[in-house]
Amino acid sequence: MTPCTTFAGRTVALFGLGGSGLATALSLQAGGASVVACDDSPDSVARARAQGIATADLRSSDWSDFAALILAPGVPLTHPVPHWTVGLANAAGIEIIGDIELFCRERNRTAPGAPFVAITGTNGKSTTTALVAHVLRHAGWDVQMGGNIGTAILSLAPPAQGRVHVIELSSFQIDLTPSLNPSIGVLLNITPDHLDRHGTMENYAAIKERLIADSDLAIVGIDDAPSRAIAERRAGPTVTIQVGDERGRNGLTAHGSAVFGPEGERIADLAGIGTLRGAHNWQNAAVAVAVVGALGVRGETLAAGLRSFPGLPHRMEEVRRRGRVLFVNDSKATNADSTEKALSAFHDIHWILGGKSKEGGILALAPLFPRVAHAYLIGAASDDFAKTLEGRVPYTRCGTLDVATKAAAQAAAASDAPEPVVLLSPACASYDQFRSFEDRGDQFRELVRAVP
Ligand code: ADP
Repeated sequence: MTPCTTFAGRTVALFGLGGSGLATALSLQAGGASVVACDDSPDSVARARAQGIATADLRSSDWSDFAALILAPGVPLTHPVPHWTVGLANAAGIEIIGDIELFCRERNRTAPGAPFVAITGTNGKSTTTALVAHVLRHAGWDVQMGGNIGTAILSLAPPAQGRVHVIELSSFQIDLTPSLNPSIGVLLNITPDHLDRHGTMENYAAIKERLIADSDLAIVGIDDAPSRAIAERRAGPTVTIQVGDERGRNGLTAHGSAVFGPEGERIADLAGIGTLRGAHNWQNAAVAVAVVGALGVRGETLAAGLRSFPGLPHRMEEVRRRGRVLFVNDSKATNADSTEKALSAFHDIHWILGGKSKEGGILALAPLFPRVAHAYLIGAASDDFAKTLEGRVPYTRCGTLDVATKAAAQAAAASDAPEPVVLLSPACASYDQFRSFEDRGDQFRELVRAVP
């Protein structure tokens, strides 16, 4: 745990007692602050009390007692409407911050300049964070990984020289971190997402830009216009990352399953690394290569780290090989955009899709339909998707995942393609038939393992 001493001897209000809120309350208390915590869920409040955290209904508290409001990142600061605690904090004239801000203040006070890699972007955050952490660990670093992925930041070991924090940040977390000053700030990409929480695209991009504004070194993917503009505006040291064979002046490019330096020199090979398939992963890998390179990891150590990356579950996860057939779990693909990445990465695909569909359906994927040998439809979107596939891709209405997996496995085994792929990449949310995309992917993995 990282005890947070910023508010030692003072009292703070805290709203949101999920995993990170609980960790924050404990860290503040360990650092000598008094915390008054609150949540809408009685279960969360009870859990906090059981851990010795004082709770109260903050609606009836005297806010002149509080030095700050600590907000969990899931609680709306601005859009669609500010949470009621935000109104009370503003009326009391106190600052509103999150757990990453507390970490930054602690780092500034106790270990200024300690290696701190902060990673954001619309897509690829978790993959890149996990990859950077993996390669650094492989190279012998003491790595603390967390934030928006896995462990809450204040549950990690404190910042120190010789120890690197690799932290994934969502826009919501950046919004609550006014003194964000990582040693390496990473912006992967910006595409429209979460506009319900950030209002406009300009506002969303401005929040993402704040992550690199005060970073010692910025690493920026410049394949989209907003990120490219951000890289061009930046005055400090910057490494740009491009996918494609146009050479960057002071950056890395990724194409043909390899990462190249500014002079066109080959820095890393991605060919044959199953967990880094596809152009989207080349962006993630090139960014990771730039990050670890800045920390001195290169050559064979880098290559070995990349090769041994286990990947993240539910993101084009290789589940099993059975003869020539490869089974891939891409349950995290809850929209057509994500499924496009998976369809682009394979051929001879036995594609399991469907669920609760999102606006736009799968029509945008039509250019990739020639890669699909057969489609297996499940869930509520079946009628919709059948209409789109009609006359373009042979399909079967399977209803449920078990029926679809069995049918796809049989057809793939009978296919004479060199490497048929049974791919679960639903392009849909899971809630019509599953608890979550994780539940859907876990069930698929079990079904695949049970294929005789
Ligand atoms: P995040 O943490 O930002 O949600 P993940 O690493 O979990 O991102 O990847 C989620 C999905 O986003 C992947 O399954 C893939 O479809 C897509 N994706 C991953 N990396 C990228 C990228 N660099 N650019 C575009 N899409 C990506």
